[in-house]
Amino acid sequence: MADRGRKDSKSKNTVTWKCRKCSKEFKEDDSKILECERCDEHYCTKCVKFTDREYEFLTARPDLHWFCFECDAKVVKGIEQDREIEQRCEVFFGKLNVRMEIFEANMDKKTSCYGFSKRNGARKNKR
Ligand SMILES: [Zn+2]
Ligand SMILES: [Zn+2]
Repeated sequence: MADRGRKDSKSKNTVTWKCRKCSKEFKEDDSKILECERCDEHYCTKCVKFTDREYEFLTARPDLHWFCFECDAKVVKGIEQDREIEQRCEVFFGKLNVRMEIFEANMDKKTSCYGFSKRNGARKNKR
């Protein structure tokens, strides 16, 4: 039985993937090759040291992204920069909170001082 005859997508198979690292060409539709989502370069699973299971896991989930070595470093840097901005914002808001607390504390002091002097004054008036 020609079980292999399920290659009805023969016309689509003309696309060849070339691994950027080992320059090996992959013509099969089911070739285990990864496409970087940033630079669109292709890498075979052997070069990126992916196991079949890892490859299947990654390709089965469209929400997972893969970046090649070169892009990975850039992406990580970008994430770090984002984090830095986030931290800066946190520091800013933290300072703002402290400032608000000081302001409130000062207000408390002022009001209690005012009340004290008022009481004092009242006592003075009595005398
Ligand atoms: Zn390769
Ligand atoms: Zn890339």
